[in-house]
Amino acid sequence: MSSETTETTASKAAEDFGGLRMTKQRQVVYEVLTDLSKGHPTASEVFVNAKERMPSISLATVYNCLETLTGAGAVRQVHIDREATRYCANLQPHAHFYCTDCDKVFDIGLEAGADAASVWSLPPGCRVEEMQVAIRGVCGACEKCRQGHAA
Ligand SMILES: [Zn+2]
Repeated sequence: MSSETTETTASKAAEDFGGLRMTKQRQVVYEVLTDLSKGHPTASEVFVNAKERMPSISLATVYNCLETLTGAGAVRQVHIDREATRYCANLQPHAHFYCTDCDKVFDIGLEAGADAASVWSLPPGCRVEEMQVAIRGVCGACEKCRQGHAA
């Protein structure tokens, strides 16, 4: 991974993906995703936020842009059982932790020096191309709250 990516602006980063042409709409959607990425917004949350920046944008356009950006590898879809698809603009290797109490989804990185491909015992000859790891559980804040109620 390059360390230069931190200096790249949101729109420039997306332009690097397969020569994707950044229309104004795609740019707005991509900016919403990079701004809200930690919250892993659903398509309707992206729409609400994009509309604040570009009142003329339609839900259909937002869906279209999300599809294009996902196809170009600029953003990733996050699938959690029974939940609406969410979107993530963090392209570093990471897993998602889903809190079943507060419905928050957050990124969890690898331990320093760990290699994602060596975490699982893959059958010989398999090569990892993409990993989607989702962990369901209760986040620290909710767990604390539960214990508080139990006491
Ligand atoms: Zn993520």
